Amino acid sequence: MIVAIDGPAGSGKGTISKKLAEYFNLSYLDTGILYRAVALQMLTEGINEKDCRSAKKVARQVSITSIDHSGIRTRAVSDLASKIATISSVRKELLTRQRRFAQNPDPDKDGAILDGRDIGTVVCPNADFKLFIMAELEIRAKRRWKELLQSDPTVIYSEVLEEMRSRDERDTNRKDAPLVVTSDAMVIDTSNKSIDVSFNEAKNWILSRRF
Ligand code: C5P
Repeated sequence: MIVAIDGPAGSGKGTISKKLAEYFNLSYLDTGILYRAVALQMLTEGINEKDCRSAKKVARQVSITSIDHSGIRTRAVSDLASKIATISSVRKELLTRQRRFAQNPDPDKDGAILDGRDIGTVVCPNADFKLFIMAELEIRAKRRWKELLQSDPTVIYSEVLEEMRSRDERDTNRKDAPLVVTSDAMVIDTSNKSIDVSFNEAKNWILSRRF
């Protein structure tokens, strides 16, 4: 079975996806790491964010299994990742990897679960289950701010809020594969819910429609 999870940053979709992956025995892919890997490599090599040809070349070299997870969660990487995610040629390169992952889960697994922004619309439009995980902007920004505070006590909430607002805008307004809620997706608003409550909602919805 294939489960597609979409939603904005800080909605809790990553944590819910991991829990669903464990519960339903699925291979899990956080597709954001692909965009982050491209952004980090561009920052490391000093490639300009508007240099689409170089961005595409970097995307072509990305391999899911060899992504180095250290350094991909910084604010600079988040910002650039959402900028290069507007480049169609970059998306095209990364799309093939995501589809391959969805179609070839580990042999000991019962399918795959992917989370991102365009999973239910572009990567796996025929997914068996589609979920859209959302939360109010201020609540998501507060969650991200608290996370960032652990490594940098000087992080300012209003800056994190503005960065998240810009990222949301880019992700929802871009021409290619924007973040949208589809009519066949189950929407879960995690604004005032614990992860466990949200996870149970998602799990029970899948179980109720599974057979
Ligand atoms: O999910 P995460 O916040 O790590 O993703 C970083 C950026 O990558 C997002 O802001 C978005 O612009 C881009 N992305 C995307 N499509 C996906 C996953 C991530 O455009 N499927």
